[in-house]
Amino acid sequence: MKLDTIAVHAGHEVDAATGAVAPAIHPSTTFERAPDGAYPRGHLYSRNSNPNRVALEASLAALEGGAAAAAFASGSAATSAVFQALAPGDHVVAPTDAYHGTLRLLRETFARWGLATTFVDMTEPGRVAEAVRPATKLVWVETPSNPLWKVVDLEAVAGIARRAGALLVCDNTTATPVLQSPFRHGADLVLHAATKYLNGHGDVMGGAVVAREPDGLFERVRAVQASGGAVPSPFDCWLTLRGIRTLHPGHAVAARQMSGFGGMLSFEVRGGREAAMAVAARVRLVTRATSFGGTESLIEHRASIEGPESRTPEGLLRLSVGLEHPDDLIADLDQALTPGEGRP
Ligand SMILES: *Cc1c(COP(=O)(O)O)cnc(C)c1O
Repeated sequence: MKLDTIAVHAGHEVDAATGAVAPAIHPSTTFERAPDGAYPRGHLYSRNSNPNRVALEASLAALEGGAAAAAFASGSAATSAVFQALAPGDHVVAPTDAYHGTLRLLRETFARWGLATTFVDMTEPGRVAEAVRPATKLVWVETPSNPLWKVVDLEAVAGIARRAGALLVCDNTTATPVLQSPFRHGADLVLHAATKYLNGHGDVMGGAVVAREPDGLFERVRAVQASGGAVPSPFDCWLTLRGIRTLHPGHAVAARQMSGFGGMLSFEVRGGREAAMAVAARVRLVTRATSFGGTESLIEHRASIEGPESRTPEGLLRLSVGLEHPDDLIADLDQALTPGEGRP
């Protein structure tokens, strides 16, 4: 089936008990045991599994063409689960321009946990080959990267990872399964911040790890999910699944107004930080806020939110193009970029 159809139908069945077409929300934290102590309906306790989470995970696995998925309370919780599935002493190769929260987790949290990371510019796969060592268990790729939108050759890096005996994880948040299927290019795990395009309405924090094979490292990710408990609520799962239903039409509109390259762009304002902040201060229709992938357009000065360690250019503004008419967005940016012209 085509992605449009998968987005609408995966993880979705008419409710057998009531005939309801839209899924119910199951807030129950606990599930009944049979007289013999078994759990014939599959659920035990909501941290371990929940009908809404199972439905969302089935949808995510189907969208990526994977075998299984584990949903988390945020993209960062999903990222943490992957690193927690490794062991102290393991080595990771990661891109210098990964999402700043991912870099922070590696530098601050997992470095103290004994995970060593080498950061390289992955637009040159040769750098990855130079960085791998016998202890390398994971190569982390984010393509296109946020907020520089650098593109990494997944097949080249997958080959290097495989030869080094390491797994390849691809953070597919910015491309989404609509634009990119990392498993087809050699990735072993796919990571999503469902907070962005997958939910697509700016009202849920969510994340997921999708696995090409259900075993190996993914089994440990699953164990971290159940025992660590950074799980999404049933309502968040329900909202995300609802958001996924419109993932493709949402993309079609964004692709039309963005010449086919998705709804994200970053640009640098001449004059550095001050000039960029001034442009952001002048927008009227676009909202100044972090995150992306919602229905309304957002603009953000990334360097100031990423903090002193940020390598993002000081003059860079990131724009998440929503579903407003392009003419209105262009007019708003035009007046923000040309202060004083034709205005009182
Ligand atoms: C936002 C984002 C994350 C983290 O997701 P949260 O839900 O904010 O924790 C990870 N990777 C990328 C590329 C992101 O844009």
